[in-house]
Amino acid sequence: MLPTGRYRGQVTSAVASTQLSHPEPPSQPGSLRPPAATVPQGAVAATPVVSAADTRSGEKQPPLDEYYNALFTHFGPQHWWPGKTPFEVIVGAILTQNTSWTNVEKAIFNLRTARLLSPSAIEKAPLRRLQRLVRPSGYFRQKARKLKAFCDFLRLEHRGSLKRMFATPTIVLRPKLLDVFGIGPETADSILLYGGGHAVFVVDAYTKRILLRHGWAGENAKYEDVRWMFERQFPSNARRFNEFHALIVQTGKHFCRTRDPLCHSCPLGRYREEGR
Ligand code: SF4
Repeated sequence: MLPTGRYRGQVTSAVASTQLSHPEPPSQPGSLRPPAATVPQGAVAATPVVSAADTRSGEKQPPLDEYYNALFTHFGPQHWWPGKTPFEVIVGAILTQNTSWTNVEKAIFNLRTARLLSPSAIEKAPLRRLQRLVRPSGYFRQKARKLKAFCDFLRLEHRGSLKRMFATPTIVLRPKLLDVFGIGPETADSILLYGGGHAVFVVDAYTKRILLRHGWAGENAKYEDVRWMFERQFPSNARRFNEFHALIVQTGKHFCRTRDPLCHSCPLGRYREEGR
C-alpha cells in the first residue's frame, strides 16, 4: 500500500517497503494527550464542511455549553497540551496515534536525548535511527516516516518555519496539513489547536461515543459533522476548544468506557436522555 499525501518524507528505497507493511488500525479512544502549552491567539476559524449525514444538525443541538460547565466543574482546568514547544506538540500529535501517552513520552524522551526535537534534525536523521528512537510509540516505521513527511512539508511550504506555518489562515493550512502523509483530521486539528492556537475543535473517539450515547450523533457520524457541531456553538473560541477536548478525554477515560459506562456518577449523566 502506498502512502497518501503529497509530502511523504525522505525515504530510501531500501527501507521503504518495510515501512509500509504495518497499516494502522482505526483511531482509538484516548489517543490524544495533554499538556501545559500556552495557546497562541489570533487564529482564523476554519470554514466547516457540513454534509448533515448522521448528525442531528437541525434546530435541536446538544447543550454543549452545559456539558462544558459540568465537566469543567468536575475535572477543573486540564492545562493541555504537554509539549514544551509547538514542534514538540506536533511530534506528540503524530506519535500518539493509536498508542498511550506514556509510550509517546518515552519516544519524545529518546528524541530529546538524541537532540532530534527540531524539524531540521529530524530531516537529517537517518530513517533507521529515527525509527529506533520512536519505537516505544508503536508503528515506529510509519511514524518515523510521518515525522519526516511533516518536516519535508514544513521546509517546502513554509521555509522550515513553524511561525510562518501557523500564521497561515486555518482555511488554507488545514487542507495542506491533511495532504501530508500520516496526518488525518484528528492529528491535523490537534496540531492546529494545540500547536498553533487555531480555533478548530478536535474530535476523537470519545467525542463521538458520548454524542452517540446521548443520541446526538449516529453510528457513522462523520468527523467534519461532529467538528462543526462544536464549532458552530463556540465560533472561533480556541481556548474553549482547547479545554473542552481535554475534558472530553477525561470523561471518556474515567466514565464513558467502551463497556459499562459509569453514567450514574458521570458529570454528564443528567444529559444522557436529552438527545433521544
Ligand atoms: S458515561 Fe454515560 S453519562 Fe457519561 S458521557 Fe458516557 S454515556 Fe454520557
